[in-house]
Amino acid sequence: MTGLAAAARPGTGSGARLDVDLAAIAHNTRLLTGRATGELMAVVKADGFGHGAADVARTALANGATWLGVTSLEEAFALRATGLDAPLLSWLNPVDADFARAVREGVDVAVPSLAHLAAVTSAGRRARVHLHVDAGMARDGAAPDTWAQLCRSARRAEQRGEVEVVGVMGHLGCADDPADDCNALARTRFAWALETARAAGLRPAHRHLAATSATLTDPRSHHTMSRVGAGLVGIDPSQTTRLRPAMTLTAPVVQVRRVRAGTPVGYGHAYRTPAATHLGLVPLGYADGLPRITAGRAEVLVRGRRRPVVGRISMDQAVVDLGERAVDLGETVTVFGPGDAGEPTVAEWAAWAGTIEHEIVTGIGARVSRTVRRPTHLRSLS
Ligand SMILES: *Cc1c(COP(=O)(O)O)cnc(C)c1O
Repeated sequence: MTGLAAAARPGTGSGARLDVDLAAIAHNTRLLTGRATGELMAVVKADGFGHGAADVARTALANGATWLGVTSLEEAFALRATGLDAPLLSWLNPVDADFARAVREGVDVAVPSLAHLAAVTSAGRRARVHLHVDAGMARDGAAPDTWAQLCRSARRAEQRGEVEVVGVMGHLGCADDPADDCNALARTRFAWALETARAAGLRPAHRHLAATSATLTDPRSHHTMSRVGAGLVGIDPSQTTRLRPAMTLTAPVVQVRRVRAGTPVGYGHAYRTPAATHLGLVPLGYADGLPRITAGRAEVLVRGRRRPVVGRISMDQAVVDLGERAVDLGETVTVFGPGDAGEPTVAEWAAWAGTIEHEIVTGIGARVSRTVRRPTHLRSLS
């Protein structure tokens, strides 16, 4: 493998910092590789769920993953530009995407419709495609009543030497709840889709349905490959398995003041201090990924103690009630981390915001500076 992508991104000088722990991602990848009965595709869409696509990709490949997956071709080309040459699939593209370049750069593409098949076949020589079936969530992939036709057309294109159908893919809509009947229906739909492809003369070597939850809970859905994203970065939507979170978000206290009881704080005076206290200002706001809706619930860790975020969260800043004891300017506030030192976790922030962990980790803004900690076996690559 060639050089690593930049390990640090500078941010805009607010002092807010996101640390990404690649050792956690390495650990999670090994755990998931052990659970998957087939190959493991590391899904690094949305900048590796906010953790840095190239860093997550390299770490996953060094720990058992054999494929990379992203949504758009632009994401795929960006990975290729960092020197990553592993098998790579892109599954969500407009029909006018640059499929010719995908062929040139050795990027496999998902084909969810006849229109996409036509675009891919006209793009040039023998694109490698994965036919994409909707396994029951009416989202991406071919609707069931279009599948047989798509398979027959793809087979004819294959016979003309225009494409090579190397895969069939689907996605599960309810895998977070393994007890949901929807999973059995989706497995049946996918089995039917494979049978239909086979009947059309296709022989796809890669058949993939499971993402993180089903990889951890349902081997019947594994087929030849699992596509996992959330699990790599420590999120288990099925809540069955302990994975390691990989992000720590911190910021320095940039201002401290002593206030009297009854002091209104922030926009709209939405909060009034119940007693005399110290307020600390943190340079992180909703533009940096702190959901505004968490006001009144969110906490941070300061000097080993949980302290509440008070008043409305602004675009750039938030106020923490430090209590009796002031802290020094520049002291570190931990917004979230793995939880080992008592700091809030991404899961807690997600609960305070009424959302899922994915939305928190993918929402950290570009102003936050980023540093990456590498496990020893990856250091030689930097
Ligand atoms: C995001 C995505 C995945 C990865 O799902 P996780 O639950 O994050 O592992 C797999 N397949 C498709 C089609 C996706 O969009």
